[in-house]
Amino acid sequence: RALETHADIQLYKSEQFKAASMLIPDAIVSLDQKNRIEWFNASSKNVLKLRRQDTGSSIETLIRFPEFIKYLKDYDVSNSLITHSLNGGARVYNLEIFEYYENHKLLIIKDITELYNLAQVRRDFIANASHELRTPLTVLKGYLEAMVDTPGAHQEMWLPALKNMEDQSSRIQLIIEDLLTLSKMESETLAMRDEVVLVPELLKKLQQDAEQLSQGQHRFEFSIEADLCILGFKEPLKSVFTNLVTNAVRYTPEGGLIKVTWSTDANQGACFQVQDSGIGIEAEHIPRLTERFYRVDSARSRATGGTGLGLAIVKHILERHSSELQIESQVGKGSLFKCCFPARKVACE
Ligand code: ADP
Repeated sequence: RALETHADIQLYKSEQFKAASMLIPDAIVSLDQKNRIEWFNASSKNVLKLRRQDTGSSIETLIRFPEFIKYLKDYDVSNSLITHSLNGGARVYNLEIFEYYENHKLLIIKDITELYNLAQVRRDFIANASHELRTPLTVLKGYLEAMVDTPGAHQEMWLPALKNMEDQSSRIQLIIEDLLTLSKMESETLAMRDEVVLVPELLKKLQQDAEQLSQGQHRFEFSIEADLCILGFKEPLKSVFTNLVTNAVRYTPEGGLIKVTWSTDANQGACFQVQDSGIGIEAEHIPRLTERFYRVDSARSRATGGTGLGLAIVKHILERHSSELQIESQVGKGSLFKCCFPARKVACE
């Protein structure tokens, strides 16, 4: 009788759990070690068109679009898959996989259409506004340049003002270019495919650029593991490396040392790091550095040609490469900016 009561309680609990899971608006599918469907909730019937007889079938035979197959193979918990490719393409879904109980997986699919569209409106607005500002600014800059370069009576009185206006318009141009880069990165979330990026080649070129920017004021040590390449997007990655090295140059006083390393880490991933002996950053600012337009010292940032968007772009691009920016710093001693890419992104030529 005790066993019977116990079994009843278990059954009741299990029914209660099932009923609750049926109410959840997200589609939830439980998969076994071989990615076969064990159970699914009611929403899965709408989103994935699953039927009772699909239990036991492999999920790959039911969700077939290539990004999902790839995500299922090498998903990581920090990254979800955003896709239009489900349920006829009319809605946008966010797919996440969590591992539980001896290699079983829980696939959770959220409808994020409204959120995605709102973000799209914001992205489009920034992209369009930046784009619209570009042309008038180029015209203004052209006239300013001509006025600075053409000798005449106006020069005597207006030259300093004209030069200042020219500098300021160059700054606006840099900000617009950075805003466009940011919105481009955001809008390509669904479309981009990765390729093998020859990082050592990129860094060799970057070393020359950095030395030119520094104009002999800093010492550089580049330690680059040859043949260590990664899967990703070339131009965005170049922009990450360039931003970090350029910042090291801009925030390190004359005579300082800048060390750049590209190497395999203990987990067989690949790490890029830039260490400088520069001005450093107070701890309270570190968590906010990747916010758009956040600067510790606005005057210094402006004076060295900063837009305040560099690290925001870096953060965004790294997220797209399953990586994140790590920052360590000591005021007056220097800073370390580091990012590591997981082993599955490593591709050796
Ligand atoms: P900015 O264009 O102003 O440099 P970033 O987004 O690249 O914008 O950086 C944000 C802020 O982080 C900078 O304004 C600066 O205060 C700080 N910072 C970035 N890199 C360094 C560094 N290597 N050393 C000291 N401070 C730094």
